[in-house]
Amino acid sequence: MSYRHLRLACECGEVPDRILEVGFTADHEMVIHFWCAHCRRSVYLSKSLSECWRDCPEPEAVPQLRAAHAAETSAADAKFLQSLGIRCPE
Ligand SMILES: [Zn+2]
Repeated sequence: MSYRHLRLACECGEVPDRILEVGFTADHEMVIHFWCAHCRRSVYLSKSLSECWRDCPEPEAVPQLRAAHAAETSAADAKFLQSLGIRCPE
């Protein structure tokens, strides 16, 4: 399944290790609940479902993202193999 990563961060900038809960409110917002280890408090981020809709990738953009990722991955693989003294055929 292809999807766009949702960037989560506390207002202090800390990225949560894990999400505690994801839920929905009566006024159609998605709520993400996580613990900020830096602030030592529970953080609730909300996002309207229309915002979520706007953040969804375009259907035609998905294969490009995948291709970009594949190119990155094979470049990283080639580098790793090179570090082991193995050369990839062009
Ligand atoms: Zn924080």
